[in-house]
Amino acid sequence: MANEAYLSILDQKREKLFGLSDAIWEAAELAFSERKSAELLTEALAEEGFEVTSPAYGVETAFTAKFGSGRPFIGILGEFDALAGLSQEAGVVEKRAKEGMKSGHGCGHNMLGVGALAGAIAVKEYLQQTGASGTVVYYGCPGEEGGSGKAFMAREGAFKDLDCALTWHPGEVNAVYTDASLANIQVLYRFRGISSHAAGAPEMGRSALDALELMNIGTNFLREHMIQEARVHYAITDTGGVSPNVVQNYAEAIYLIRAPKVGQTQELFARVNKIAEGAAMMTETSTEREFIKSCSNFVSNRVLEKEIYRAMQGLPLPAYEKAEYAYAESYTKTVAAEPGKTLDKIKETFIESENAAFLEERKKSAIYDFVVPYEERHPVKAGGGSTDVGDVSWQCPTAQFWAACWAPNTPGHSWQIVSQGTGPIAHEGLLYAGKLLGATAVSLIEQPETLAAARTEFEAKFAGQTYAPIPSGVKPRPMGDFAK
Ligand SMILES: [Zn+2]
Ligand SMILES: [Zn+2]
Repeated sequence: MANEAYLSILDQKREKLFGLSDAIWEAAELAFSERKSAELLTEALAEEGFEVTSPAYGVETAFTAKFGSGRPFIGILGEFDALAGLSQEAGVVEKRAKEGMKSGHGCGHNMLGVGALAGAIAVKEYLQQTGASGTVVYYGCPGEEGGSGKAFMAREGAFKDLDCALTWHPGEVNAVYTDASLANIQVLYRFRGISSHAAGAPEMGRSALDALELMNIGTNFLREHMIQEARVHYAITDTGGVSPNVVQNYAEAIYLIRAPKVGQTQELFARVNKIAEGAAMMTETSTEREFIKSCSNFVSNRVLEKEIYRAMQGLPLPAYEKAEYAYAESYTKTVAAEPGKTLDKIKETFIESENAAFLEERKKSAIYDFVVPYEERHPVKAGGGSTDVGDVSWQCPTAQFWAACWAPNTPGHSWQIVSQGTGPIAHEGLLYAGKLLGATAVSLIEQPETLAAARTEFEAKFAGQTYAPIPSGVKPRPMGDFAK
C-alpha cells in the first residue's frame, strides 16, 4: 500500500501541505470567523480540481469541495479554528506570547484541516488514476471549539447522504479513536435587576449579580445529584460593572452542560433552568436564556474502526531522527506529569495483556512513533470532552483516529501544542494522517460490502433514536462575540 501512487503523490506535495498548515497556524482564527483559513483551504482544493461550494449549509465559513462522480460518497471532515488566549511563539520551549497574535492553534486544527485535505487529494488521485466510480467530499467544518459547527451544518442536511465519514485529530499517539464523546448544550443566562447606590439606598436595588452567584451556588449543589459522567461548567461573561458601590442591574454567564447522551443533557438543562429561575425569584430579579448551541454524543462505527486499523498496519510510520526525539523531549520536560500517563490510560481499556505490555515497554519513547494496538472488543466510556463529529456520527457511519503530532504528555489546549504546531512532528503527523485517510477511503471504495456492513451497524445502533438538531432560528455565533 505504501508504494501506491495515490499516496506517494502526497510526498511530492509535502512542502505545500506543510506550508498550508503553517499559514492556518499563523492566521489562528476563532470559531466562525475563519475567513482566511477557509480561503486558504478552498483555494488549495480548487487548484486540485475540486468543485468548491462556499459558503455551505448556511454557515459563513463552512464549505464543501467535491471530486469524482457516482457512489460511494465518502466524506472527509476538516477543522481549522483556533482558541482564544493562546498566543504563542512557534518552536519556543517556554510560554511566550507572539506579538500581534491573540489566539493560537492550541488543539492542532491547522494540522487537522490540512491532514484531511491531504486525505481528500489522495482519494482524488486514486479516482483519477483508476476511473473508479466514487465521490470524495471534503467538508470544511468551522467552529468546532465551543461552536459545534458540524451540528449547524447537520441541521441543514449535511452528511446524511454519505456512505461514510472519516476524520482524525492530532494527538500524542497513533491510534484508532474507540471511545464515545459527551453530548452538550451551551446556554447564555442573563439576569436583570435594579441599580441603586449600594450604601445610600441598598433597599432600592435588586442585584443581578447576586442572582448569578446564587445560580452558580445552586448548580454546585446540583452536582451531587446528577449522573456521574455529567459535567456542568460555566464562565461569567458579564458581572454588571466594576463599581462595588453600585447594585449591579445586569449579569450573565455561559453554561455548558454535558452528559453521555443527548436526552441526559436535555434533562439537566431543564434542571439548570429551574435553578436560574429560583435564583431570580430569591433576588427579585428577572432571568432569560439564549440557546447558543448543542452537540450530540459521538457513536463510532466498529466496521470502519477495523478498516482504519487495517490501513494503519499497511502504512509506514513517519521516521524521526535524533534531533526530533530531542525536540520532543524538551517539550515533555515542560510538563510535571509522570511520563507515559496517556499510555497508562489506554492500557486500562485493554483486555489482552500483551497489548498492555506493548505500551508499557514504550512508555519512555520520546515520540510515540508506533501504532497503538486496537482491540475489537473495548469499553466505550465517553471519558472527557465533546466533539461535533458526534453530530456527523448520527447522520452516517463515521469513524476517526488520532495521529501523533506532538510530544508525549503535551496537555490539550495548551501553549505547548501551539508551539509545536509548525514543527517536525506536526508536519509528519499530518502527512501520515492524510495518507491514512486516503488509504482507508480507497479500501472502502474497493469493498462495497464493507460499506454495506458499516451501514447495517449504523442502522442498528440508531434504531428507534431521533437526531436532536440545534433548534431552528439559533445561528452560529462567532466566539469573538463573547470576548469583551
Ligand atoms: Zn479542542
Ligand atoms: Zn480539537
